[in-house]
Amino acid sequence: MAIKTDVVIVGAGPCGLFQVFELGLLDIHAHVVDALPQPGGQCAELYPDKPIYDIPAYPIIGAQELVDNLMEQIAPFKPEFHLAQMVEKLERREDGRFTLVTTAGTEFDTATVILAAGLGAFQPRRLKAPGAEAFEGESIHYSIKDPARFEGKNLVILGGGDSAMDWVIELHDRVESLTLVHRRPEYRAAPASVAKMKALAEAGKLREIHGMVREVRAENGRLAGLTVAEGAHDGELIEIDADEVCVFYGLSPNLGPIAEWGLDIDKRQVAVDTEKFQTSEPGIFAVGDINSYPGKKKLILSGFHEAALAAFAVQKHIDPDKRVFLQYTTTSPVMHERLGVK
Ligand code: FAD
Repeated sequence: MAIKTDVVIVGAGPCGLFQVFELGLLDIHAHVVDALPQPGGQCAELYPDKPIYDIPAYPIIGAQELVDNLMEQIAPFKPEFHLAQMVEKLERREDGRFTLVTTAGTEFDTATVILAAGLGAFQPRRLKAPGAEAFEGESIHYSIKDPARFEGKNLVILGGGDSAMDWVIELHDRVESLTLVHRRPEYRAAPASVAKMKALAEAGKLREIHGMVREVRAENGRLAGLTVAEGAHDGELIEIDADEVCVFYGLSPNLGPIAEWGLDIDKRQVAVDTEKFQTSEPGIFAVGDINSYPGKKKLILSGFHEAALAAFAVQKHIDPDKRVFLQYTTTSPVMHERLGVK
């Protein structure tokens, strides 16, 4: 059954999170959907440990710390998060509201939608070798939901980051054979995990290869193995037997379905006005990196400002006759009540 709501925010990056706050001050409850399993968007996914120097009133703040602070700030408004699912369908209903559906099958019947989708949904970087496509979702995996399926199998893990190392360590004694393929001898993963992997390789529990996958081989319609060129450049070809392949090449943002929703989009940006931050579709708003308007700067502080104005516009869209006054959080008893300030 569809969840009926006033607003769905697409994207839990810093701007989507602050949007929850600005809506909350106006007594509007928000549902937030993100393709990633955790909130924070680019800050959490691309640079959690880096310091940011241009957040107002914070001379320096870590990117993950900013996300943690935003989560604390919006907690009084009890937003409902729907994570690890991508919004793939958005349609206007006959009554003017919207149907929004995610890849996990969550369906919303919502009065408004706020796109805070940044550079797009973060999705796994795919294995782009000839023959790979036919086995995606079958024997080629980009995440592991059921580790038991690899028991007794010839498994190849591709990648050099934390996910690749974690699964090598987790699965090495449950599979028939394990091969780790990474394009170069240096790994991006935590040094302790790399050391564990190296120890397993020395003990003969796995084969470690540095090279690039050139081909996915099939036999009788089933995955048979990979052909890997050794070294960073085209080196000697190595044939590896494989029943299953797990690819951990990291995540990259992809505008994906948003491009199909009939919005005015130019160069991967959604055009908005600067009064309401509304798109070409009434009732669909856009804040943060996803939007564009004359003078737009892709900065977190710009997204925060946009979220404040979009909240007032959403309020007007939901209840055009209601008069809304600007109230200070410092002095307004109404704001204190909404914030749970004693
Ligand atoms: P994002 O952070 O991109 O979040 C968007 C979210 O939407 C993502 O989590 C994505 O998974 C989700 N999403 C998209 N489409 C869908 C969909 N269809 N379904 C479900 N979920 C979806 N800015 C500064 O102001 N100061 C800095 O110092 C600074 N340093 C930076 C350093 C680096 C290395 C990088 C990469 C960026 C930096 N930025 C900085 C830019 C800043 O991170 C972005 O401006 C900010 O993250 C934009 O926030 P956002 O909420 O609009 O989008």
